[in-house]
Amino acid sequence: MVIIMKPGTSRECIEALAHEMEVQGLKVGITNGVGCSILGLVGDTTHLNADDLLLHEGVERVMRVQEPYKKANRKFHPDDTVVDVAGVPVGGKHFTVIAGPCSVENESQITEVARAVQESGARLLRGGAFKPRTSPYSFQGMGIEGLELLLKAKKATGLPIVTEIMSPRYCEIFESCVDLVQIGARNMQNFDLLKEVGKMSKPVLLKRGLSSTYEEWIMSAEYIMSEGNENVILCERGIRTFETYTRNTLDVAAIPSLRRMTHLPIIVDPSHSGGAAWLVEPLTLAAVAAGADGIIVEVHNDPAHALCDGKQCLTPGEFGALMEKAQGLARFMGKDV
Ligand code: PEP
Ligand code: MN
Repeated sequence: MVIIMKPGTSRECIEALAHEMEVQGLKVGITNGVGCSILGLVGDTTHLNADDLLLHEGVERVMRVQEPYKKANRKFHPDDTVVDVAGVPVGGKHFTVIAGPCSVENESQITEVARAVQESGARLLRGGAFKPRTSPYSFQGMGIEGLELLLKAKKATGLPIVTEIMSPRYCEIFESCVDLVQIGARNMQNFDLLKEVGKMSKPVLLKRGLSSTYEEWIMSAEYIMSEGNENVILCERGIRTFETYTRNTLDVAAIPSLRRMTHLPIIVDPSHSGGAAWLVEPLTLAAVAAGADGIIVEVHNDPAHALCDGKQCLTPGEFGALMEKAQGLARFMGKDV
């Protein structure tokens, strides 16, 4: 980090700031230029807030030369991380597909969809039991009963299960039965939840917040990792923009950008990105071409009667056709499918 002092700042003032930084364990080099001085801070500055430093007497500008995230940073971990989800690899050379309904609705629905998506090559089963709905009057998910039905579908197919956690009070039960713990877009900055999930031993699927920057998203991963859980998978699921024709706007550039910034796997959710079944295929192919490590897709055996997000759900048949194209392109991109 570099601190540029205002011209004419007294020597005592500069030395006092340098001393304050040294007390915090940093090495400080002072360069006196023509008219102004510069302090170069060497060491771990992750705890320093640039805006707070601006409040110090004589400080003109503060510049970070390193990112505020460490554990997720590719600079300190050049190799891709491959997250093991109950034996299914996500990241690196692998292209992994997660599929299933938006919400678990009943035993035959979840089991039927699980069998169908497995047949087409999905390796993990998704299904919401706790649903973060915009309206309190909409279907809120089956809760614990939904988890039990997911376990039945897992027993029937062997597919590990992915489902969203909305409150730290469910960490214990998720720890005991969920294979990949999803943090939804709306909870990406629920820091208490992130910290608790960071203490779990199960891998985490961290969706991007509706209006979060890449750095904010990685900092949320850093919250989980800093508590000891380094098995984090990032998921781009579309962001809020001025466009309303689509539900969200898929940020394709997030995939190569995050690839540079972090070693964590990056998958894409084409269902919530576009909000329409007809958009799932083109968005999936764009994601695969941009180097995504996998996709998470909503599939329902009867989309017209789905209790949540029917408009964007694929039928099992449509999902099968999507898989053929997506896997073909993933192979072309050098991935193992
Ligand atoms: C979901 O995957 O069911 C979901 C609610 O997604 P998001 O948090 O991305 O809106
Ligand atoms: Mn959904």
